[in-house]
Amino acid sequence: MCDREDIRARGGPLLPAVDLEEFYGVDRRPAAGATPLAELVESLLEVFRAGGVRATFFTVGEVARTHPSVVVRVAEHGHEIACHGDRHLPMDRFDESAFADDLRANRAAIEALGLPAPTGFRAPLMSLDATCAWAHRILREEGFAYSSSVLPARTPQYGWPEFGSAPRECAGVLELPASVVRVGPVLVPCFAATYYRLLPEFVARRLVRIAARRGAVVGYVHPWDVDARQPRVRHAELADRPLLNRLLFVRRGSMRARIQSLLTDGWPTATYREFARTFTGHPSGRCR
Ligand SMILES: [Zn+2]
Repeated sequence: MCDREDIRARGGPLLPAVDLEEFYGVDRRPAAGATPLAELVESLLEVFRAGGVRATFFTVGEVARTHPSVVVRVAEHGHEIACHGDRHLPMDRFDESAFADDLRANRAAIEALGLPAPTGFRAPLMSLDATCAWAHRILREEGFAYSSSVLPARTPQYGWPEFGSAPRECAGVLELPASVVRVGPVLVPCFAATYYRLLPEFVARRLVRIAARRGAVVGYVHPWDVDARQPRVRHAELADRPLLNRLLFVRRGSMRARIQSLLTDGWPTATYREFARTFTGHPSGRCR
């Protein structure tokens, strides 16, 4: 739980998150030869258990349908289940109506497991940017309380640098953008999957400390980030970008230990739902 005194003293809290998805190959099917999802998730659950941490699992609807026992097990461990798109399609594939349909299907897949209705959403690939700022209104209309879908930096794929790194309310929904730290001329996402794997560990941890001084540290890891045995295959969204695709496989073998080390450091942590409920920052801001 996030304790206000502790957060004031140390900064943060960290908001640990797993984007609960498969590694989608170019045919948009889970890549063959990868470690079973259940095994990877179990490995992450053990890390969170060791750190006494409850996390938020942003869950793809398709995963809830194909691996129901995995999602139920995550929930039974006390973690929050939120939405991550029904088929893990980035936002530029949707118009408003199709996005609303996708949200409903994602939520229905989770509720069909007997779990509470999710109140949070994360866009696949953090793909919510200025071109689809209408998404916050749709989220509110569909009953969501928060979103964590903006990467406020220039990246090789999506990004909305003008959004800024502070949480803010957009159309009645609290947006919790991924944490970024300025390193020279570049805004670097910290506590975030590939970035956290690529950076030397002492640098990655330092970026987390810097971000924590400003407030909540928002990031993500995927189950496949800890799958050191997966053969190199092309990801659906990087089929024509081989260099970027290679980065998805770097240092996976050390990722689990890195997360464990960070989470056992005694940082205050919270689930996204808990943090959103207690957020008392600026209640409204310009979102465009
Ligand atoms: Zn994802």
